[in-house]
Amino acid sequence: MKTQIVIAGGGYAGLFAAARLRKYSGMNVVLIDAHDHFVQRVRLHEYLAGGSMPKLAYRELLASHGLDFIQGRIQSIQPDQQTLILEAAEGARIVRYDWLLYGLGSRTKRWDHIPGLNEWAQTLDAGPQLDRTRQRLQELPAGESVVIMGAGLTGLEAATEIKEAHPHLAVTLVNAGRAFPGYAPGAEQEIRNVLRRLDIRLMEGRQVTRVEAARIHCDDGSSMPCAVAIHCMGLEVSSLARDAGIRTAANGQIQVDPYLRSLSHPNILAVGDAAELDAASCPAPRMSCAAACPMGTYAADTLHRLQSGQKLLPFRFGFTGRCVSLGRRAAVVQLVNALDQPRRWFFRGRLAVWIKEMICRGTVQVPQWELRWGLALNRWYQPKDI
Ligand SMILES: Cc1cc2nc3c(=O)[nH]c(=O)nc-3n(C[C@H](O)[C@H](O)[C@H](O)COP(=O)(O)OP(=O)(O)OC[C@H]3O[C@@H](n4cnc5c(N)ncnc54)[C@H](O)[C@@H]3O)c2cc1C
Repeated sequence: MKTQIVIAGGGYAGLFAAARLRKYSGMNVVLIDAHDHFVQRVRLHEYLAGGSMPKLAYRELLASHGLDFIQGRIQSIQPDQQTLILEAAEGARIVRYDWLLYGLGSRTKRWDHIPGLNEWAQTLDAGPQLDRTRQRLQELPAGESVVIMGAGLTGLEAATEIKEAHPHLAVTLVNAGRAFPGYAPGAEQEIRNVLRRLDIRLMEGRQVTRVEAARIHCDDGSSMPCAVAIHCMGLEVSSLARDAGIRTAANGQIQVDPYLRSLSHPNILAVGDAAELDAASCPAPRMSCAAACPMGTYAADTLHRLQSGQKLLPFRFGFTGRCVSLGRRAAVVQLVNALDQPRRWFFRGRLAVWIKEMICRGTVQVPQWELRWGLALNRWYQPKDI
C-alpha cells in the first residue's frame, strides 16, 4: 500500500510541498484546504485596493499530476490515531495519514485588549470580509478617511496601494513606535518620500487604544475619524496543533527539529508560518512567504529521504532581502544579511518594482513548473555558518 501523505493547508508552504512531491513515487498525496483555490496572500493588499487576482483552482492544478485535493476546514487532529477531522461540503470527514505536513499558516492577530478592534477593524485575511472591504473602498466618497493600524510590511503595502488606487481618500498609517526599523537610512528615506508623495499621513509613536464604528482612539488622547479601519498589527497561528497535544511554542507554532519534524510527533512535519524554526535552521526566523516556500520544498524532499531510507540533511535558510511594494509604481528591496539585518545596499524605483513583481510571480509559477515538469526548481540561500 502507498504511503499516505496529507498536506494540511495549501498556502505557499503546502503548495511548494505538493509540487515537489509530484516528483516522487510510492506516495499517495492529498492536499486539504478550506479554499478551493490558492490564495496569493502576498498580493492581498493589491486585491484589497481593487486589483485583480486570478484564481488557481487546486483540483485542476493537482489532479492532472496524480495528487488529490479535498476542500474542507480542518477541525481537529488526532495525532495518536494519525487522523484529521474536517468539515467538508458533504459534512464531517475523517482523513487518515502516515505523514502529516502541517502548513496551516497564520492570520491577522486578534488583540482582545483593544476594545472594538476585533469588531470594527478589517483585516487582510482572505474571505468575504476582504471582498466587502474592497467594495467599500470603491464606494467611499472623496475625503473619507481610511486608517491603517500597523506600519510593518503589510500595513505599509496596504496604505500605499490603497492611496494610489483611491487618491481621493485620506489615508493614515498609525504605528506604535518609530516606523520602518530594519532599513538602511537611504531605504527608509525612500519609503518616507513615497508616503509624502502619495500624501499618506504617517503617525508614529501612537498606540491604538480603542476602535469604534467610525473613530479610532490613541494612547495620547487623540482620536481620528475613519470610514474604514484596517488592522495590520501582526499575525498569529491557529490553536489546532496545541489543542491536539502537539508540542508548540507559546504562540502556538509547532516546535520542530532541524528536519522540520515535530518534537512531540515525528511523523508530523511543520512548515511555513505554523512552524517555529530553531536558530540552527534559520538565524532570524520571521513569518514570511520567503521562508514558507523553501520549507515546503524541503519537507517534501525530506519525506522522500525518510521513505527511501536516505540520510537526512538539516533545513537551512537565510534571508537575503526584504521586498516591500509601495503601490504599483514604487518599491524598496532592502538587502539583508543572514541574520535579517539590513546591509547598506538597497534597490528602489523601477528596478525594485520589477524585482518584487518577479518574486511574487515566482511564488506561483515555480510550483506550477515543478508540477508540470517534475523538476526540482526551487532554490534558496542556505548559509553554512551562522
Ligand atoms: C498582505 C500581505 C502581504 C505579504 N507580503 C509578503 C511578502 O512580500 N514577502 C513575504 O515573504 N511574506 C509576505 N507576507 C507573509 C506571507 O504571506 C505568509 O508568511 C505566508 O503566506 C505563509 O505561508 P504558509 O504557507 O505558511 O501559510 P498561508 O499562506 O497562510 O497558507 C495557509 C493555508 O492553510 C489554509 N488553512 C488554514 N487553516 C485551515 C484549516 N483549519 N483547514 C483547512 N485549511 C486551512 C488556508 O486556507 C491557506 O491556504 C504577506 C502577508 C500578507 C497578509
